[in-house]
Amino acid sequence: MRRYPHVIGSGPRDAASGRWREVFEPATGQAYAEVADGDGADVEAAVAAAREAFPAWSGLRNSERSRHLERLADALESRIDDFAHAEARDGGKPYALARDAEIPRAVSNLRFFAHAATQFGSESHHGEAGINYTLRQPLGVVGTISPWNLPLYLFTWKIAPALAAGNTVVAKPSEVTPATATMLGELALEAGLPAGVLNVVHGGGPEVGEAIVRDGAVKAVSFTGSTVVGRRIAGIAGPLLKKVSLELGGKNPTLVFADSDWRDHLDTLVRSAFQNSGQICLCGSRILVERAVYAEFRDAFVARALALRPGDPMDRDAKLGPLVSQAHFDKVVAAIARARDEGGEVLCGGSALDRPGWFVAPTVIEGLGPDCASNQEEIFGPVATLQAFDDDEQALALANAGDYGLAASVWTRDLARAHRFGAQLRCGIVWINTWLMRDLRTPFGGMGQSGLGREGGLEAMRFFTEPRNVCIAT
Ligand code: NAP
Repeated sequence: MRRYPHVIGSGPRDAASGRWREVFEPATGQAYAEVADGDGADVEAAVAAAREAFPAWSGLRNSERSRHLERLADALESRIDDFAHAEARDGGKPYALARDAEIPRAVSNLRFFAHAATQFGSESHHGEAGINYTLRQPLGVVGTISPWNLPLYLFTWKIAPALAAGNTVVAKPSEVTPATATMLGELALEAGLPAGVLNVVHGGGPEVGEAIVRDGAVKAVSFTGSTVVGRRIAGIAGPLLKKVSLELGGKNPTLVFADSDWRDHLDTLVRSAFQNSGQICLCGSRILVERAVYAEFRDAFVARALALRPGDPMDRDAKLGPLVSQAHFDKVVAAIARARDEGGEVLCGGSALDRPGWFVAPTVIEGLGPDCASNQEEIFGPVATLQAFDDDEQALALANAGDYGLAASVWTRDLARAHRFGAQLRCGIVWINTWLMRDLRTPFGGMGQSGLGREGGLEAMRFFTEPRNVCIAT
């Protein structure tokens, strides 16, 4: 059976305890590999390696760190197929999605922050009280904790700015999808990244994740995952006065106005609900439709959802893979049962597929109000609800009903309305007539229960540095 060890210091390493955990293939439900089952001892070893590497790494010229990241991006780009296969296998995502979108995005993350390393600057202030300049210095050893839904995409989204800014990293991927983080850790060493600069530690969240957050030498933690775990991390980091960035869950609205070109955009609208089986924090799971077109939209949307071809992730034509784990499958199936109990009418899907693995059919539900659990709690599966609205005011109230505030998409041809909703929707990202279009320079993150802080561009470079004011008397 294939094994995924930690990557600590100069190479792969088994868990100090000698224990391994099984890794499952969602398309079959069978274990196909094992991952090192780490704990605090492994985190300690990784932090020691990262501390040792920090002085030399942070002392490099920015352009040298940039070249390291470029070399890693090149190495990853030359092995996109291998990485895409690995994610299709342990995450269950369609190979085509990994091959054409997610692994290329991981390459872009590395390249983008390679450039940021040379373009990042700091401010100076004068004319009031002396001459002031701001030094933005790396923090030291930083921790990153990432989830299973976009394993390499989100892993690189964190480690790239951390490394570009001159920090060394202890990174914990999800134990559910450990393949590509291990492969990247090994590839980084092959590509010449100095030992100890990037360390990958596997294991359970409470054992490894919390040990990273608690470690006194780890100066900041960048976390992406559920709101429940984000709260727990904030609770540990708060008394330690440790810097944290929290990218958490969402319950995103999709607002479809009658004047929009929704018929031309049905593919994107369906994708926005069901891409990666709805296991993307940015998926629109509450679809709000202007009443004048509600019935026509509902029928067209359901027909398109029914046409999504579930299949083996390795099948190039498969549009929908399985859910990532038995536990997540159980959670999604329970959420659909709860929607029925709440009075929802299931228009399509609503059940597991009759095949091995953790497949759930694309599910569309109507007849539920904004306050029920189905419209309040994140399901994180191929499940979307439909609600009708009569005017802009009601649309805004429905969209903003809830504690999450990650993203929204608005479909309209009315420019004034687009700007109004852009300003008044309570969330961190608003897409107008598009979904998941990303310029990596923009601030990324949510408000309310969707998180704290922002990633992306300068926001990430600022998070991973400490500003220091130097004031010179004139
Ligand atoms: P999760 O259970 O919160 O896990 C996320 C990461 O945290 C995993 O690496 C997990 O490790 C680790 N972890 C678990 N318990 C921990 C603890 N007590 N202390 C420290 N780390 C701990 O989330 P998930 O189920 O993997 O991911 C789905 C969630 O992520 C959804 O809520 C989704 O909306 C959110 N998400 C948000 C964004 C965003 O940008 N806002 C992007 C993607 C996903 P193990 O898996 O090894 O237990």
